Amino acid sequence: MAENLTPPSNFVQNAIDEDLKNGKYTEGIHTRFPPEPNGYLHIGHAKSICLNFGLALANGGKCNLRFDDTNPTKEDVEYVDSIQEDVKWLGFSWEDRKFYASNYFPQLYEYAVELIRRGKAYVCDLSAEQIRAYRGTLTEPGKESPYRNRSLNENLDLFARMKQGEFPDGSHVLRAKIDMASPNITMRDPVIYRISHTSHHRTGDEWCIYPMYDFAHPLSDAIEGITHSVCTLEFEDHRPLYDWLLDSLGFDPTTRPRQIEFARLNLTNTVMSKRKLRQLVEGGYVSGWDDPRMPTISGLRRRGYTAASIRDFCERIGIAKSNSLVDVAILEHCVREDLNVNADRVMAVLHPLKVVLTNYPVGKTEHLLAENHPTRGGHHYVPFGRELYIDQADFMEDPPKKFFRLKPGGEVRLKHAYIIKCEEVVRDAAGQIQELHCTYDPESKAGGATASRKIKGTLHWVEASSALPAEVRLYDYLLTTDTDGEVADDFLSALNPKSLTVIQDALIEPAVRWTAAGTHYQFLREGYFCVDKDTTPDHLVFNQVVGLRDSWAKAQKG
Ligand code: ATP
Ligand code: MG
Repeated sequence: MAENLTPPSNFVQNAIDEDLKNGKYTEGIHTRFPPEPNGYLHIGHAKSICLNFGLALANGGKCNLRFDDTNPTKEDVEYVDSIQEDVKWLGFSWEDRKFYASNYFPQLYEYAVELIRRGKAYVCDLSAEQIRAYRGTLTEPGKESPYRNRSLNENLDLFARMKQGEFPDGSHVLRAKIDMASPNITMRDPVIYRISHTSHHRTGDEWCIYPMYDFAHPLSDAIEGITHSVCTLEFEDHRPLYDWLLDSLGFDPTTRPRQIEFARLNLTNTVMSKRKLRQLVEGGYVSGWDDPRMPTISGLRRRGYTAASIRDFCERIGIAKSNSLVDVAILEHCVREDLNVNADRVMAVLHPLKVVLTNYPVGKTEHLLAENHPTRGGHHYVPFGRELYIDQADFMEDPPKKFFRLKPGGEVRLKHAYIIKCEEVVRDAAGQIQELHCTYDPESKAGGATASRKIKGTLHWVEASSALPAEVRLYDYLLTTDTDGEVADDFLSALNPKSLTVIQDALIEPAVRWTAAGTHYQFLREGYFCVDKDTTPDHLVFNQVVGLRDSWAKAQKG
């Protein structure tokens, strides 16, 4: 990635500028991207990655990758691996700064003991249900736990025994001693450690107590020397706790990290939460985390999105302080712009209809030149012969007035080739159209006497004997509605039953014979496609990335 970008103008950058002006963080800017390894990253995470790594790059600072792995029940190394692959693929580097919150378990434990020593934490024996009941509501203050005023020694003893595994899950927790009457419910003596006799994917059975996110996060930031801890808006209410913990443990206010919130990305027609994405995977609604319909980074990559287009998208949408819904058409616009410049053009016929050129010599083939790209140039050969295929949608027997494709008695130009005229529609016994008999104008190819003859329609086509069979997967949105059911939580009922259409018998020109996974093409008149990982030289498989029509750009022009 290009280094030393101009600092973006956004409120996080403004906050950084302000801090630097006030003499804070003289050691430089240090951010982090802190995923929990409980699923694959999605496009929302890409926004956070671009922001955090982007701020570091723009300010000559550093950005850490930190696995926030404090909840052993849902985490897995498969996710740790995929997260690294995705961040790298997006074009960012954490250099030698890959960290795990679980590496800090010993330090975090010591910080908890220190909090107890300072009279700011206590062991509570209330059940989870009782704690909830005691917590109060938005309008009513909470009630103090009967265990709140335990002696220092009793707290130290109980916490040590929690660690030693003397107690079952749920019997005790460690809570911060803050204020049960605080208007901010987060500050009503939040739980900071819980007992869980669960193996951790990195620390095994070493621990049976695990720190809560709200405790582990600020301290992990402080341990790593993070200056700006950028997170999403739902943590705004947790910021006082973030500050309280660091202040209570005596961290220097001019160097300790500062939390800044921004609005999370929501996209129309898109499920955007790891929990729900996991439901789709586990329920078999999609083929896996990298199903090309998934908004995961691995799904987008397999679909054919480029890293550059995703970075471009994140830059365009910017960051804000209030939640909103971004039109998925903007994301599509970004990849379309990229592939328009970078994808080679080829011809593929998705729904073949046979055409026989009755005046073309039997057994003859010729090789015509086709440009790879309208501006970048480059050429390849396409074979041409007596039998061809065009798309069924490009022929109508009884067309409306302005139909400029092929019709009985009508003429069209075949791209890179000749003008043909439809002479006869041939049907099978059942009355279905079997093939078209056409004639071609031998002088109408490039350089010929009638090459510049005015013809309204130009069609793509393939030559029958050389065309390669291909499987083409077409996609529609996973959700039929604009939101992912965040409120109703019933997103499964909004799943689009037509999100995948597989065409088994498409035909493509032979130039792509040895193409491999990840290669992009524009199929002329059809859209952008990317070779799928299921492809083999004997069975080509393509994913549709996006169509050619840009609803977003069109709407912008009004
Ligand atoms: P999800 O709700 O999808 O599971 P999460 O916030 O629990 O997401 P984490 O692994 O904790 O996932 O997220 C790592 C980082 O990515 C966090 O800093 C989080 O704020 C950020 N992030 C997650 N989802 C989005 C989103 N939709 N838009 C922007 N940032 C996001
Ligand atoms: Mg999370």
